[in-house]
Amino acid sequence: MKPLTKTDFILYRNCPQNVWVKIHEPSQYSKFEVSDFEKSLTVMGNEVEEIARGMFPDGYLVEKRSDGAQELTKTLVEQKASVIFQAVFATEKYLAATDILVWNASADAYDMCEIKMSSTTADEESEVADDEEGKNEKPAPKKSSGRELQFEYDLAFQANVFENCGVKINKKYLIRLNKKYKKAGDLDFSENQLFITEDKTVAIDDLMPRVLIEMEEAHHLLSPAEMPTRPCPCYYRGRSSHCTAFSYINKDVPEYSVHDINRIGNSKKLLKELLDEGILHIEKVREDQLPKIKEAKEGQKPSKPRKQNQVAVHKSKKPIRDIYAIKAELSSLQFPLYFLDYETYPHAIPFFDGYHPYQHIVFQYSLHVLNAEDFKAGLPPKHFESLILDGDPAERLVESLCTNIGETGSVISWYKKFENSRNRELAELVPLRFEFLHSVINRTYDLMDIVDNQHYVHHGFKGSSSIKKVLPVIKDLLALPKNVLDYNVLAVKSGTDAIEAYRKILKGEIVGSAVEKKKQEMLEYCKLDTEAMYIIWKFFTNLVAQSVQDGKTAER
Ligand code: SF4
Repeated sequence: MKPLTKTDFILYRNCPQNVWVKIHEPSQYSKFEVSDFEKSLTVMGNEVEEIARGMFPDGYLVEKRSDGAQELTKTLVEQKASVIFQAVFATEKYLAATDILVWNASADAYDMCEIKMSSTTADEESEVADDEEGKNEKPAPKKSSGRELQFEYDLAFQANVFENCGVKINKKYLIRLNKKYKKAGDLDFSENQLFITEDKTVAIDDLMPRVLIEMEEAHHLLSPAEMPTRPCPCYYRGRSSHCTAFSYINKDVPEYSVHDINRIGNSKKLLKELLDEGILHIEKVREDQLPKIKEAKEGQKPSKPRKQNQVAVHKSKKPIRDIYAIKAELSSLQFPLYFLDYETYPHAIPFFDGYHPYQHIVFQYSLHVLNAEDFKAGLPPKHFESLILDGDPAERLVESLCTNIGETGSVISWYKKFENSRNRELAELVPLRFEFLHSVINRTYDLMDIVDNQHYVHHGFKGSSSIKKVLPVIKDLLALPKNVLDYNVLAVKSGTDAIEAYRKILKGEIVGSAVEKKKQEMLEYCKLDTEAMYIIWKFFTNLVAQSVQDGKTAER
């Protein structure tokens, strides 16, 4: 077996099977789809690492992991080079590259720095704030969270390999983004600005012997030509926790299984009971196995029978429709109706002044506007849009919205929490339009509520309230042709595609006439989102009208 890398060791700690396939069946592994989201995380991670190198202007970059790169690292270390990026060492069993090595002359050793694209957590932020104000000079050591522990394992693996190769490591630091930082001019690399450096030496030194034992176990378990026989731990977790290798490793689990029951990941006991009884197919789930719906306590909202409904409609293939509830939701809306959707880029390193790390850049909106007269006349809504690809889009985008959204009427979004969070951020960036944006927030209705609140449940939704799952079902019910309102026929098919397109244009990776082409593709995608909302709203509106006329107001 090739030397075990740090990445594979960390993956192994989550799942030995997955890494075993990666090491022993690389051609099979390459078939496992990497989601667009994962791809964009990798791109962002690399970007954060490159920018973080700006903290050490005189660093020497070792570009590869090859024998030559290892030789070069050895030479640089022997020469006590002041800063080395991606220094790489390997033993017979392990290979580790470290983000930054900094020569510490007083310790006659290197300090090791690991860069993480994650930002500081809320707790850590308040801890930093307290420290700054001198209220908390020596914060009590906190127990590491799962993510923290993973970062510590990361550093401990590297420190073990480097020390094994004779490189003396003094301090072990974690460098990560400071979410409180707000860009103003050039990126500020000084202490506690864009990046926060945490000294993890004590924790890592404690951890290193334990990690060494685990490294030996990992090497031992991953070396044989047979896959480790331990059960796949995700077998007892909901679908969202599964990796793309799940179906390869768990061939008996159907594509749509009890793992897909709504929020089953939060009901581990129930999932375990079902699986231990051999129940994989949703139609085999008995009513008595599902949790009883609890009476709502005073002042609390009643819990929604999501699991029960999903199982019931899957068995009956008849939708659950609570027409009174849908009618009540829809009658709260006022014309004109503004179907609004944003596309945004949560850029790790703030690109424009006034932005924090990971603050969303709202670069595009699509808006379908339906006034009462057009609705009565059976006319379609009018479409407006804006896509800004140069400079900070906030002000121009808000001005455009201001022109197209009037002072009255309901704004309709799908998962309004997202749009409204962006509206709040935009109000901070464009204070002159604070009132307008807060009026939009107050007038926003979440169309997803009809599905999420269980007023309309269809087996085709498969327990999800995502518009990507709901739209195809509504299209079928309306007998619309397959290629109409179809994300799959678009060049930009998802929010992640839109982010990637924007990123590439922003970074100059798409230039010339290709920009115009990509722009059209991005416009088409966002337009489909608001058109989809309009179609779904119309479907529910007609359903209510028809059902009231037929005297059928609740069906199960
Ligand atoms: S789904 Fe299975 S293979 Fe994938 S990470 Fe989870 S345990 Fe590993």
